[in-house]
Amino acid sequence: MEIEKLLDNNASACYQCEQARGPGCNTFKGVCSKSPETTAIQDHITWLCMQLAAAAVQNRAKVTDEQLVLFNRAMFTTLTNVNFDDDALMRYAEDLTAELTTLGVSGVNKSAAEAVATLKDYGLAHRIHKFGETVAGLRETVVYGIRGAAAYADHAFVLEGLDPVRKETWMNVEAMAELNKDDLSVDALLGLTLKVGEANFGIMAALDKAHNAALGQPSFAPVNTRPVEGKCILITGHDMDDLHKLLEQCEARGVNVFTHGEMIPAHAYPALRKYKCLVGNYGTSWRNQRKEFPLFPGPVLFTTNCIMPPREDYKHRVFTTGRVGFPGLTHVTNGEFEPVIAAALEAPGYTKADVEAANAESPLLVGAMHAEVLSHAGKVLELIGAGKLRHIFFIGGCDGSTPGRNYFSDLAEAIPDDCLILTGACGCFRINRVKDYGDIEGIPRLLDVGQCNDVFSAIKIAVALSEATGLAVNDLPLSLCVSWFEQKAVAVLLTLLHLGIRNIRLGPSLPRFLTPDALAVLADKFALKPTNNKDAKGDLADMLAGEH
Ligand code: SF4
Ligand code: SF4
Repeated sequence: MEIEKLLDNNASACYQCEQARGPGCNTFKGVCSKSPETTAIQDHITWLCMQLAAAAVQNRAKVTDEQLVLFNRAMFTTLTNVNFDDDALMRYAEDLTAELTTLGVSGVNKSAAEAVATLKDYGLAHRIHKFGETVAGLRETVVYGIRGAAAYADHAFVLEGLDPVRKETWMNVEAMAELNKDDLSVDALLGLTLKVGEANFGIMAALDKAHNAALGQPSFAPVNTRPVEGKCILITGHDMDDLHKLLEQCEARGVNVFTHGEMIPAHAYPALRKYKCLVGNYGTSWRNQRKEFPLFPGPVLFTTNCIMPPREDYKHRVFTTGRVGFPGLTHVTNGEFEPVIAAALEAPGYTKADVEAANAESPLLVGAMHAEVLSHAGKVLELIGAGKLRHIFFIGGCDGSTPGRNYFSDLAEAIPDDCLILTGACGCFRINRVKDYGDIEGIPRLLDVGQCNDVFSAIKIAVALSEATGLAVNDLPLSLCVSWFEQKAVAVLLTLLHLGIRNIRLGPSLPRFLTPDALAVLADKFALKPTNNKDAKGDLADMLAGEH
């Protein structure tokens, strides 16, 4: 009924992230503040990407690298909390239309107003009406997984070009092209979700390799969280290449750089931490930016998601670059960050008094990527063999604001001292200040594997443990509790499912786009289960008892 009302009103709807409220999250405005117009343009971009994918599959020999790069970038730009700037989004739509023309597809051009006016022909309400909730939800799962994987592919492309992710980009193009068929069954769609998971695994591996090649092999590093006297810039998002360029430019100008959110793993890379101006980490995850940014005494640079509508009191000192955008903010391009540095020099920066007034805080430890952890594999195996290391938990993923997310901090706090906790992505901020986790005979109990794409490290660690112990990954004393929020988390989840990893706990709520029927299939095949948000200790007891 709700869907029919949306269709009658030609209203936009979105349920791509965990904040979705009903099928018409943004009939007026999304919880994220996305307008119905922005949703309509993003739907149009997604539809154009489907047409580009179909044309690419039919004309494989004619497809250019630029078209594959555009496919990734356009999909990336439709992710939650990436781009709210309709003019910038329309430029992606125009570029896609132009590329379709070169592949012989015409008649797809639409203005922003036309995209809004024709929502009832292709918007989410239309798709749910046309396919039914289960099939529509699985089709969306494929699209969201591709969006997440496309974001990682774009990061890898920036560092090493298209070659390392070409094969996987094609896999996603092929999956997207399939969505032009109206008669895909539930089984066919599940196959596509796993294909996207496989593609994303290759893309995360390529990004891991590209980060290591460009920035050196990451290793354990303590990260200062206290103020440092001087002018300063806060950098947030996920793009290490942008940070690298910013550090180069700030070093000579005497401007300090603090990382925020998912940029915290930067401190683990030798080629980044060699810069004296990289002085620490500020704040927590994206959800607190409207509370934390007003208190930071310098400009903020967004390299990617997750951007929230900036408050008026600090909006003038927020900059964007790359795929991220918000109307009214200054967008800098080509890694030329002089406008951000100039804003830092004009801002107050941290004073000596700020430093003296700040609370004492222990540094946070980062750098538990696979090479570092596996260099201690002998000790870890010895501890397991001696019964001194009982269980390993992965608790991480996206952070968010919805109720129930205390589950992850409650769980981490309750985990006994003879267990290790791997964490990663911005969900780490839910647990890294809960307490001092200490160590087990020199192995830190809380190990931060890095960004969400660095789940690749957690996978490598699990595979190495499996090989060393002779136990299948699903039989290891290892439990995964993943918090999801947006579409990169969907891509990571699909990768874990593609790898056959079972018994994942997912929370704090299950994706709205997966209906009970679709979830029943996943629960049956992969034993995917929801977190019991009201009883973290009960879940913990089950996991320690071997029920993962
Ligand atoms: S991205 Fe999330 S919060 Fe924003 S409109 Fe869509 S479902 Fe709602
Ligand atoms: S992990 Fe997800 S929610 Fe967190 S900053 Fe990255 S994209 Fe946003």
